[in-house]
Amino acid sequence: MTHQTFAQSGNFLRKSELHQNRLELTFKYRIDEVNNFIIPSRLGVTKYVYDIKNGVLPKGINFKRHQHPQVKAFRVGQNRTDILRVVIESTQQNQQKYTIVDNRLIIPLPLGKVLRFRSKNRKALNRGYNKKKIVIDAGHGGRDNGASFNGIKEKNITLIIAKKLKAELQKKGYRVYMTRQKDKYIALERRTEYANKIGADMFISLHANAAPSKKRASKFKGIEIFYLSLAGTNRVKNGRIIFKGKSLYSKKDCKVMISSKKIKKSRKLAWIVRKYMLRNLKRKYRNVEDNGVRKSDFWVLLGTKMPSILVETGYLTDKLEGKRLMNGYYQNLIVKGISEGVLNYFRKRY
Ligand SMILES: [Zn+2]
Repeated sequence: MTHQTFAQSGNFLRKSELHQNRLELTFKYRIDEVNNFIIPSRLGVTKYVYDIKNGVLPKGINFKRHQHPQVKAFRVGQNRTDILRVVIESTQQNQQKYTIVDNRLIIPLPLGKVLRFRSKNRKALNRGYNKKKIVIDAGHGGRDNGASFNGIKEKNITLIIAKKLKAELQKKGYRVYMTRQKDKYIALERRTEYANKIGADMFISLHANAAPSKKRASKFKGIEIFYLSLAGTNRVKNGRIIFKGKSLYSKKDCKVMISSKKIKKSRKLAWIVRKYMLRNLKRKYRNVEDNGVRKSDFWVLLGTKMPSILVETGYLTDKLEGKRLMNGYYQNLIVKGISEGVLNYFRKRY
């Protein structure tokens, strides 16, 4: 069969949809036959191959947009004129079989145990593809409004964005927890305590800013991402962290909270989240202000044992930014940016 005659009669791939636990491919016609096999590799990445008989890949379809924390790569290509090949590369085990429902091929994603390898690189390869725990902290709440301007309260904006971020990160396969789900006051030390208790891998605190006075409002705008710095702090004394006049943690815990390892990782996270936030916002909006990555000894950054950042999503007091922060589409882009930053942080694509 020549390529041309085949292309006319071929079973074209119409759609490829990535879900949390499966990849769904929709073809023009009923699928005849799928040949599935596994190619293990020494380096710890297994290739799960699906050869679809008579499958044809139309121009312009690729799997570049597919991203999943348990999958290293999704590939699709015309292996032979009469075989469309889909390859899923992962460090994890996949024992479930694919299913065919008429013109749809449903491929389960590897969510199982991490495969065992002798390779020294195993740990490095697996890092980032396991199910990470992320705590989202919607700033303020309850009697604590946070910044407030023209009737808009920071606590409400942060909760809306936090909920959207939760959904987005869950879609990417992460385990997501929130310090608050409703308009409720929660003390700062309880927020960090919660993240430490569940052994979170990451802590993201969400805030919106306000200028110090109405008169100077026009001078304050822009996104700011904070990570921990101990420079000039009066919250650490003799290796102990002091909060509200009290020493809350053991020396051992404090050591982790102020370790250079945590600070380094937090800095990397801050930079990558900034990058993707700006990229997403600038694509659709003009005059997106960048106030850069900043350092602080904010309690939520100090009291956590894992990499932590605080995102100031913008100034409520700025005419343009304040309006945008209320806009659902703008909020979605903020969320998209943060979640892409998170994904690439865990994949070590700094
Ligand atoms: Zn705040």
